[in-house]
Amino acid sequence: MIQAKNLQAPVGLSHHFLNQAESVSGLYDKNIKEASSCAQIHSGNISVASRKKYYEGCDGIIASEGRSLIIRTADCLPLLFFSTGKKLIGAVHAGWRGLSAGILQNAVRKLKDLGADVSELQVAIGPHIRRCCYQVGSELIENFTRKIPGVKFFEERHQSFYLDLSVVAQRQLSDAGLSAGNMEDTAICTSCNPEYASFRRDKTLLRNFSIIQLESSKG
Ligand SMILES: [Zn+2]
Repeated sequence: MIQAKNLQAPVGLSHHFLNQAESVSGLYDKNIKEASSCAQIHSGNISVASRKKYYEGCDGIIASEGRSLIIRTADCLPLLFFSTGKKLIGAVHAGWRGLSAGILQNAVRKLKDLGADVSELQVAIGPHIRRCCYQVGSELIENFTRKIPGVKFFEERHQSFYLDLSVVAQRQLSDAGLSAGNMEDTAICTSCNPEYASFRRDKTLLRNFSIIQLESSKG
């Protein structure tokens, strides 16, 4: 289990980026059972959680205190959000389609609509396939070059392109107003690291679970 430092300090907040074995180990079953999840359809849509356990038609959920959220991934990015001031949490699933559809901008907009101040938003990016392994076609490079011109978000090796989803995500978040010091990347590649489920590597149905919870301060 790994954690991002920027989400460790706030009182009442807890989060876990689990590898594949930990996700099904039983150790976290209580956290997993309580958490709200979403359909994860590679959309740009965000839902605001009420009391439901499952949200259709979206790839991210925002909730207030007393709630917990879960995202399941195998190479895509799990992103966890926290607003200290407004006591809001968010969990987002984003692959290239979601990033292209603007899911991170939508998440930040929803958090702002709910009263969060973008300057105090914290984000942690969990394990995902990184530019060491994520070979993509030139059309994806062209797509993101249009969206974030001037940013070095890929590598070219042996006439192939390797996309860095984390660079794309962090650029989009900083364009949306987040400060670079409030973003943390756990720097693990799911494809390189056999402890993590990787769809590219194994064509697997197995997933790595990422969970965020905020206890109610009302007791
Ligand atoms: Zn890798």
